[in-house]
Amino acid sequence: MRILLVEDDTQLGESLEAALRMEQYAVDWLRSGEPVRSALGATPYDLLILDLGLPVVPGMQVLRQLRADKQQLPVLLLTARNTVADKVDGLDAGADDYLTKPFEIAELFARVRALLRRNGDHKATRLQGAGISLDPVDRQVWFEDQLQTLTAREFAILEILLRNAGRFVSRARLEEGTYSWGEEVESNTVEVYISRLRKRFGSAAIETMRGVGYRIPD
Ligand code: CA
Repeated sequence: MRILLVEDDTQLGESLEAALRMEQYAVDWLRSGEPVRSALGATPYDLLILDLGLPVVPGMQVLRQLRADKQQLPVLLLTARNTVADKVDGLDAGADDYLTKPFEIAELFARVRALLRRNGDHKATRLQGAGISLDPVDRQVWFEDQLQTLTAREFAILEILLRNAGRFVSRARLEEGTYSWGEEVESNTVEVYISRLRKRFGSAAIETMRGVGYRIPD
């Protein structure tokens, strides 16, 4: 699951980005509203967390623009205001939910999970393959009915492979789906994670085709 975070407050942005990554989401953080449109056009996001009080282009304008562009992704507003009129305006403009600052991080996580779950498209159903079962919203993995503990990157790679079960996925595609913008990717990183996943799920769980990529057999 990939989240776009738009927040101009550096301290809050940094802590939200770190907290969401700890929860195993890929997060891209923008400090202003102007690049949101091109970011949404270039990358498929599962959720937008949008601060209303942004410099230059206000959050409400960003929200109206993306709904005018027919972007369907769920939007969670962050707002310092808490008058009823502001909340109604935000919901009328196409937001799905809002949080008034200051808020507890646990509440943010709960809202994020609820929105991802409510979104209810194919992405929200449990993914299966090679005896593995993965719930992309609750971020849980079972293998032979045992709950597994995976790192964020292991989880992200496994999720992409299971979404494409039966098809080979290139290393570049796995890197792109696993790393947020600006993160350093070591050249053998994907191989390292694939080898860890094989140790856990058995060597037959993931096939390699040299020069093509990896797949979980159907
Ligand atoms: Ca702000």
